Amino acid sequence: MKLYYENDADLSLFNNKTVAILGYGSQGHAHARNLHESGVPVIVGLRKGSKSWTKAESDGLTVHETAEAAKIADVVVVLLPDEKQKEVYESEIAPNLKPGNALVFAHGFNVHFNQIVPPENIGVFMVAPKGPGHLVRRVYAEGAGVPCLFAIYQDPDGSMQDLALAYAKGIGGTRAGVIETTFEEETETDLFGEQAVLCGGVTELINTGFDVLVKAGYKPEIAYFECLHEMKLIVDLMYEGGIAGMYYSVSDTAEYGGMTAGPKVIDAGTRQRMEQLLANIQSGRFARDWILENKAGRPSLEALRRKHDRLPIEKIGGELRGMMSWIKKD
Ligand code: NAD
Ligand code: MG
Repeated sequence: MKLYYENDADLSLFNNKTVAILGYGSQGHAHARNLHESGVPVIVGLRKGSKSWTKAESDGLTVHETAEAAKIADVVVVLLPDEKQKEVYESEIAPNLKPGNALVFAHGFNVHFNQIVPPENIGVFMVAPKGPGHLVRRVYAEGAGVPCLFAIYQDPDGSMQDLALAYAKGIGGTRAGVIETTFEEETETDLFGEQAVLCGGVTELINTGFDVLVKAGYKPEIAYFECLHEMKLIVDLMYEGGIAGMYYSVSDTAEYGGMTAGPKVIDAGTRQRMEQLLANIQSGRFARDWILENKAGRPSLEALRRKHDRLPIEKIGGELRGMMSWIKKD
């Protein structure tokens, strides 16, 4: 697999191009500030009255309303919430795109699942940092960078790969290394990861373990520490040294118990259901459900949030985290 670094990217490609960053949230503020400090001509596009307007200005950036920013810019970067992108694209971005412009995303969902269909004479690429925006900003300010993925979706004049790599350089990505992917691969693996493993899988594993201990008569406080609180320690060890690094650091009892019990908890049935989740993502069924859910005003998401708020692990966790002075309260 090819990795791209500083020497593979040329920031001077932006000498006569203005970049508009639409949105000033997690990713938006990081991309805009990093590009600005990399010498790229950058403006920010926001809604009139947006709370971020003065924030972007006090960060030294020029702000315009979304449609105006899209009109001025040669490179339009869509860093709005994924569920809002289609509407803003149709009403404020599309009417202001000119042949030869580039449209940029940090996640492939809307393009891959046909919610945004850019005209053929517009270049389309993605640069997706593999980290949250505050990390993209902090690491850049420290002189390093967060690894990025890039993908080319449409390339009418053959310049999109060079422009994507230059963009990745501008936000600091080539300091760490940049990997090529496709909109399809990034979108499907991102959805699968958050559903099966990161958000869905891990939370159910924690909550079920907690529940088993509490139902067996153990104190919920103790169950919380064992099943949720200590997860961070284990994940930090894996983040730094992989699974082997984690097993090296825990006791031999934990290593033997973990290696023998793990496959009994996550078994062939789990694998089969994970494969079914992936099939639903690949077929577009999940995307359709989520798009319709948003159109309906998010009835299921709200019901699920209420159900999650009432989980016993959340009540006990709220109390216990109050004992931990080092945990930020926001
Ligand atoms: P965010 O919610 O943090 O920020 C979105 C910004 O858009 C905010 O400034 C908000 O005020 C603005 N906004 C909302 N509605 C708007 C509208 N109708 N018109 C104009 N502006 C509007 O979003 P984010 O997490 O930065 O995500 C942006 C993109 O980056 C998404 O495509 C996401 O998938 C992708 N991404 C996010 C992360 C991450 O860690 N957060 C990582 C990789 C990729
Ligand atoms: Mg992700």
